Amino acid sequence: MPRPKTFIKSIEVDEAKRAHSCQHVSSHRIQTGEKRLKLKVERTFEHFCTPCALKMIDSDIEKLQNIRTQLTQE
Ligand SMILES: [Zn+2]
Repeated sequence: MPRPKTFIKSIEVDEAKRAHSCQHVSSHRIQTGEKRLKLKVERTFEHFCTPCALKMIDSDIEKLQNIRTQLTQE
């Protein structure tokens, strides 16, 4: 059996090397050394603070569950 494909290759968690603004809500600050979500967008990366990342993750989980339901329902 081939390995399953993944839909979430473009995200990972890393640590900010310097303080900067969250790229989803610019008033959110990410401090040096703080964990952040790194999203690959074409050839660059966007970085989001944890509260924004959690909302995005929850929304994607909901979306995946919805798609799963569509596939399995008669
Ligand atoms: Zn944020």
